[in-house]
Amino acid sequence: MRLTAPRPLLVACLAGTRRLPALHCSTVPDALSEVRRRVREASGERDVRLVAVSKTKPAALLREAYDAGQREFGENYVQELVEKAPTLPDDMQWRFIGKLQSNKAKVLVEGVPNLVAVETVDSAKLADRLQKAAAAALEARGGAPLDIYVQVNTSPWEGTKGGVTPEGAAELAAHVAAACPALRFRGVMTIGAPGDERCFGALRDARDAAAAALSVPADSLELSMGMSGDFEAAIAAGSDSVRVGSSIFGAREYKASKP
Ligand SMILES: *Cc1c(COP(=O)(O)O)cnc(C)c1O
Repeated sequence: MRLTAPRPLLVACLAGTRRLPALHCSTVPDALSEVRRRVREASGERDVRLVAVSKTKPAALLREAYDAGQREFGENYVQELVEKAPTLPDDMQWRFIGKLQSNKAKVLVEGVPNLVAVETVDSAKLADRLQKAAAAALEARGGAPLDIYVQVNTSPWEGTKGGVTPEGAAELAAHVAAACPALRFRGVMTIGAPGDERCFGALRDARDAAAAALSVPADSLELSMGMSGDFEAAIAAGSDSVRVGSSIFGAREYKASKP
């Protein structure tokens, strides 16, 4: 599928008269390869995971990224993921990065056999529900424990982002490590305030505190931070996993609800 815009839009895009992402003039494989190049350049010798964030995007576009070699995908909505995943190759590795209500943990884990991680754990209650669902899945189909990231709110002054306080991260990490054997605590995640790189330092501090609480080396735990607008800065600040959506798949269009 080519993402060519209708002609007047394309002309406006090329002429730079409208603030459209360059993708409107490109394809998913081209955009993906450009993002990969930028991730590589920013990472140097380090291994940084690129997660393609595909919420609201049709399966056909995800398939184009898959055909270009992408395997790690991030999704935000349980219902959307549970519907999309079975239509796509089963070696796609799904990472859940949206707000997750504890009563949806079972639907998510049961409905997405190749779910490898939930990056937005923000309460012991949610961890316990995921533990229960992951234990049942391990029993039924085997495999590896489900990777868990604790979401940290590194911009509490905004009042809009989910996640635990930086101090709460260590406590929740300790709970997952001690009480949830079907889960594996892998690190911390944040959605920083756009343009505010203090969030990256705050996440690093939360990671270091969690590592100290668990008596493990800090670099054994991952930092999941950085999105389209700031992934290079996030990598420079130590990110191990960047989540990039619109720079790969184009701007998201949310359907207006029917009148
Ligand atoms: C949507 C989303 C992203 C990707 O955002 P872009 O700005 O489109 O790259 C990354 N992380 C989370 C948690 C998201 O919800």
